[in-house]
Amino acid sequence: MTSLPPLCGHDDLQRRFRTAARAGSLPQSLLLHGPDGIGKQRLGLWIAALVLCESADEPPCGTCRACGMVGSLRHPDLHWFFPLPSPKGSHTPAKRRELFEQARLEVLDARRADPFAVTTPETSAAIYLAMVEDIRSRATRRPAMGVSSVFLVGDAERMVAQASSPEAANAFLKLLEEPPPDTLIILTSSRPGSLLPTILSRSLAVRVTSPEPALAEAFLERELGMDRTVASALARRSQGAVGLALRMAEADPALAEEGWNFVRAALSGSAADRFATAAKFPPSGARGPFSGTLDRVEEVLRECITIRVESVDFALHSDVRGRLPGIEGVTPDQLLLALDHVEHGRLAASGNGNPQAIAAVLLSDLARELRPRTAMARNVGSGPG
Ligand SMILES: [Zn+2]
Repeated sequence: MTSLPPLCGHDDLQRRFRTAARAGSLPQSLLLHGPDGIGKQRLGLWIAALVLCESADEPPCGTCRACGMVGSLRHPDLHWFFPLPSPKGSHTPAKRRELFEQARLEVLDARRADPFAVTTPETSAAIYLAMVEDIRSRATRRPAMGVSSVFLVGDAERMVAQASSPEAANAFLKLLEEPPPDTLIILTSSRPGSLLPTILSRSLAVRVTSPEPALAEAFLERELGMDRTVASALARRSQGAVGLALRMAEADPALAEEGWNFVRAALSGSAADRFATAAKFPPSGARGPFSGTLDRVEEVLRECITIRVESVDFALHSDVRGRLPGIEGVTPDQLLLALDHVEHGRLAASGNGNPQAIAAVLLSDLARELRPRTAMARNVGSGPG
């Protein structure tokens, strides 16, 4: 009985990794990077099964003892780590390590109970030094069952971004510098730019792309029994990222609406609308719920990009035109540039500044970036055409 949802997409990468494993040329450390929610950690678990599988023919066979144990997240040589919130109170280093391990096992239990459980990473969750030390001490032990140990470290950029010092990342670096033989280290990240350059340079970076929305749609229908129209809308909005689609499905609709309102205010061309929208945010604590707002603004822009690619003037999507008046004149390039501004907003928010101010700057940047090109051309009365 497996605790893992099937993989959605990534066939090419599976072929590549299989070939490399057969040739004995898998590197000792891999960085799987790509958009949020596309199944990078799930792919990492598949690679773990590939390496640990006991069948010689076509690993991972899915039926041997090792594959079964990876599938139920109980393989003693698979060490899956991910960001966790720091335990409350002050503890000795040994106690902290114990508390992190307890929390990690609880998450694994929840996964076993529901393979599709939506895990929304808490903003305070990180890969703390105590966890990295645990990883390092495990790496010195011989594999318990097979011939290899696999370390999968999800959201690896959180080794630095959330910790107040780079200690955890530096400790991890020591492991990457001298990995014990027969150890495979797989890092995943949707923000590889936030990783220490030295960590980047010591791992083979592999870009993981989003599955086609059609694949994601079929997956949501088949695996979760979703209604086709719901599956289709979610697959489109998440651009094929199944994990993101599941989070969207569970999200509070009022929160989702916030992203649309934000982009609508940027498109309206009215400074008063932008001011009123920014004023709704609190004046401090940008690392709190405000970072969720930025996620939702990004989701809306990404959905617009997907739609814009399939329908030049949004003609097929009257719902979106209704929600975002003026969007039909905006090009995919403009939308991509708008995403850069959201990223700048995110950087500003990571300094825990004033959400009102960050929102005001972002709204005016978006307003400038998203000004419909056709309208601009009209306004300047450009030549015949
Ligand atoms: Zn197997």
